[in-house]
Amino acid sequence: MSYQNFIANRWVPARSGETLPVIDPSDGQPFDTIARSGAADIDAAVAAARAAREGAWGRMAPAERSRLLLRLAAALLDQQEHLAQLESRDTGKPLKQARADAAAVARYFEFYGGAADKLHGTTIPSAQDFTVLTVREPHGVTGHIIPWNYPLQIFGRSVGAALAVGNACVVKPAEDACISLLEVARIAQETGLPEGALNICTGLGAEAGAALSAHPGIDHISFTGSPQTGMQVAQAAAAHFAPVTLELGGKSPQIVFADADIDAALPVLLNAIMQNAGQTCSAGSRLLVQRPLYSTLMDRLAELFACTRTGPASENLDCGPLISARQLERVRGYLELADRDGIQVAARGTLQESAAAAGFYQPPVLLSHVPANHRLGQEEIFGPVLAAIPFEHEVDAVRLANGTPYGLVAGVWTQDGARQLRLAHKLRSGQVFVNNYGAGGGVELPFGGTGQSGYGREKGFEALYGFTTLKTIAIKH
Ligand code: NAD
Repeated sequence: MSYQNFIANRWVPARSGETLPVIDPSDGQPFDTIARSGAADIDAAVAAARAAREGAWGRMAPAERSRLLLRLAAALLDQQEHLAQLESRDTGKPLKQARADAAAVARYFEFYGGAADKLHGTTIPSAQDFTVLTVREPHGVTGHIIPWNYPLQIFGRSVGAALAVGNACVVKPAEDACISLLEVARIAQETGLPEGALNICTGLGAEAGAALSAHPGIDHISFTGSPQTGMQVAQAAAAHFAPVTLELGGKSPQIVFADADIDAALPVLLNAIMQNAGQTCSAGSRLLVQRPLYSTLMDRLAELFACTRTGPASENLDCGPLISARQLERVRGYLELADRDGIQVAARGTLQESAAAAGFYQPPVLLSHVPANHRLGQEEIFGPVLAAIPFEHEVDAVRLANGTPYGLVAGVWTQDGARQLRLAHKLRSGQVFVNNYGAGGGVELPFGGTGQSGYGREKGFEALYGFTTLKTIAIKH
């Protein structure tokens, strides 16, 4: 089978006829192909989306949209295992993680389907003889550029919200992993989503992605990916004044105070860097530990790291391969830098013998006493590498935590209630989690960053505001 683009509810090859291979990260081998789209394909998808906005999709009542998205959510849940198998093979993540992602995409459509008919404007008291009101309207045609690390989840979070408020979507998934999304499109088509409401063009960022962000027919762009690409997308969109939401990277700190419940913290600290082999924007990749606890915590964490097993996605171990040879090379480059600069490796996970030599494997690594200003303490590695840094006092923890260009997530572990609140206010971060990390990833929680982690919010009800524009109407009696 070879996957094609999904435009106006039809499956079509790229206009050029060209394809790209789909690679299995567990063995490095190609197992399928996707369309290599260019500007002409994006044009066709934008035209289909515009026609949908002006046709059946644009006219659909919110309650009907709501029912449709709820039906889609139920169908996605029915196909959870199928979607998880595809996602796991395509991204290399262990099956249990892919199953959670497949459940999450259904949950996004459930949440946004339920909210579709609950967004309303306000009336505003104004001068006498006036009635003033606000209404929320969809942007129109929204563009969605999606990375390879969580294709299903990030599709659900941005496309689910955009469709719920009546936008028609053009999606450019990542070339390294996207086939699960094409399956979601097939399921949406079977569920009765009107023609043109959802369009997907696969292909390379510099070709299809650049064509989408520069397209004058796109009214809003939701971008999730690296800061470098995010800046390019925002610049291209600025040429036609399209608003952009940027969900970018992070170097998120987990701050552990001496009074923390370390039995509760330890498994969470490990999971926050090992999940999806550390290829998570919100990975807890900097561990700041108060000095009196440092050696105890590091010893116990090192034991946990050493017990982790890395291997093929299908074996459902703790850690799968990285997404690509390029990503593996990037992560190994950082580890070589650690070696060159004498940074101590406190522990490494083990690689299963069943891991194919051509797969892209990097077992988790725990680094100790990383200088805060070293590249390993500052840059997003996007792999299973945790940089531990000791600190003395609360004020030092805040300075270190806020001392990178990012501001996505921060974890705080302490039993001191006043300190919990102080830090929640002082940390420069889109999310602060106290005595947990990620709150189970709930769709209800708004999510986004500051600084190089981006701007705008997705998830939760907040996303519905982001995918609409506010109109003020003033009527003189
Ligand atoms: P990337 O920026 O290389 O690619 C992301 C998407 O942008 C892909 O679909 C790619 O094809 C496309 N793209 C690439 N060049 C483009 C261009 N010139 N114009 C338009 N589109 C282009 O990022 P990546 O390597 O795929 O993903 C990793 C990054 O994403 C990390 O920095 C990570 O932190 C970030 N990320 C952030 C979040 C979040 O919610 N904040 C979630 C996941 C990943």
